[in-house]
Amino acid sequence: MDQQFSVHALASGSSGNATLVRAGRIAFLIDVGLPMRKLSAALAKQGLTPADLSGVVISHEHADHVQSAHAISKRHNVPLIANEKTLTAFYRRKTQTPHHILAVGDRWTVGDLQIETFTIPHDAIDPVGINILHAPSGQKVSHLTDVGHVTETIRRAIRGAHLLVLEANHDVHRLQGGGYPGYLKARILSDQGHLSNEAAGHLLCEHALEHGPHTVWLAHLSKENNTPKLALGYARATVAVETNCPVVFDVAKRDSPSAFWTPGQSALQLPLF
Ligand SMILES: [Zn+2]
Ligand SMILES: [Zn+2]
Repeated sequence: MDQQFSVHALASGSSGNATLVRAGRIAFLIDVGLPMRKLSAALAKQGLTPADLSGVVISHEHADHVQSAHAISKRHNVPLIANEKTLTAFYRRKTQTPHHILAVGDRWTVGDLQIETFTIPHDAIDPVGINILHAPSGQKVSHLTDVGHVTETIRRAIRGAHLLVLEANHDVHRLQGGGYPGYLKARILSDQGHLSNEAAGHLLCEHALEHGPHTVWLAHLSKENNTPKLALGYARATVAVETNCPVVFDVAKRDSPSAFWTPGQSALQLPLF
């Protein structure tokens, strides 16, 4: 059955990441950091099996983004789509499976969707953010997690996004005052680490001022150093005070399917905010 263009958060955070993108007869994942059993169950609820996927686009090789990538590719012949350095790092001690090299900046076209990637700063070999363009509706989705800091490349890449999936990993004060060892705090806070609520808020304001109403999912929230309430509260308040723009917010939950988006949804939900 033909599906409307849609994006569905299946899991988001250090315990595993996966986002399902569908349009027409096409379904693919951004990252696959869930255990296979959990992934299969989440797909089954959408009427899909792993073998139905056209591919898995991999943002970077950290385990919370690739845990089931090898299994899904080997068992179900699903191609892994990533840049060469990421694939090389991923396959270091594994047999090769179906895959497709997508150089940073190039496009992979599947059905009505075009997928392009852009460089982001994070402590992986060649990490990327992912843009999805749906030609029939003219809608754009930008997917951006595991980001050490915001760069000009990022600002340019997400321009015009109707759905922005953006990391809001931690509250800086909570992280600094929390129980993580010093080296881990330093890693998370570094330019190659993860994006704070504050940094995400700044970028959201820029995007709202430039682009107007749209939808934002806060993603990759830390279990220890953030809460959905804290992240949402900060983002909503910052955007309201600094832009007065009616942005629709949601949180991609850590370990269960949650946020769902289709084109036009923002307009329908605007009165709520
Ligand atoms: Zn991650
Ligand atoms: Zn990572």
